[in-house]
Amino acid sequence: ESFIQMKQVTKSFYKDTIAIEVLKDVNLEVDKGDIFGIIGYSGAGKSTLIRCINGIESLTSGEVIIDKQIVSNLTGKELRGFRRQVGMIFQQFNLMPSRTVYGNIALALRNSGLSKQHKEERIMDLLELVDIRDKRDAYPSQLSGGQKQRVAIARALANHPKVLLCDEATSALDPQTTKSILQFLKDLNRKLGITIVMITHEMGVVKEICNKVAIIDQGVILEQGDVFSVFSNP
Ligand code: ADP
Ligand code: ADP
Repeated sequence: ESFIQMKQVTKSFYKDTIAIEVLKDVNLEVDKGDIFGIIGYSGAGKSTLIRCINGIESLTSGEVIIDKQIVSNLTGKELRGFRRQVGMIFQQFNLMPSRTVYGNIALALRNSGLSKQHKEERIMDLLELVDIRDKRDAYPSQLSGGQKQRVAIARALANHPKVLLCDEATSALDPQTTKSILQFLKDLNRKLGITIVMITHEMGVVKEICNKVAIIDQGVILEQGDVFSVFSNP
């Protein structure tokens, strides 16, 4: 049984009485430790799909299961607890501009139940992990794109999630910074054994670090499997 499963997931949005089906019978299987890429053009349904994985969107039908938990059945309170097991990073980093690097990471630990001292230790460990200790007291506006994304990664990992979801995480970065962030994610995957699911419209990203890939078009998964076999099809 796979670590993350989407089973016959459909998602429709409703405009007045008209249903727009954005995900159509999506079946996805991600194993523990995978770096799983989901690639498709703009409008294909990638963001909706990843929002279904972390429970932000309710499903129209089907099931999402992560590590034996049926995400789609969780209630509001359970869902908040569950979200702590899922880290997420974004194209636009989504850092709080009025808070320092330290403060941004601290936010993720607000409801962690850790003592003040343990929070401080955890934050210092995270700063070390993403190699950004010297920027501890800087504000996001004082950071480069790559540094911002590393802070966002630290924040996403604060509560030791089982999964890291990446939403076009390198699309706002120049090619060289993209390479270094991708390499960094690959190292994290190896070092922490964390499962990574990333959505992207860039083939290069998938080829650089993913071991598995799914191709999505107009809400339909056309193909999925090992990167090597999917991309070597004639
Ligand atoms: P992608 O991430 O691949 O660009 P999205 O998941 O953002 O694709 O969008 C897929 C389709 O769903 C698009 O046609 C988009 O307009 C539509 N869509 C996304 N979110 C909503 C929403 N909240 N209400 C209505 N339509 C939506
Ligand atoms: P603000 O309170 O203005 O939002 P920050 O976002 O910078 O300030 O910090 C959020 C939390 O982290 C606060 O409780 C603050 O005391 C603490 N904090 C900020 N920087 C450090 C630091 N270098 N060492 C220890 N705690 C810090």
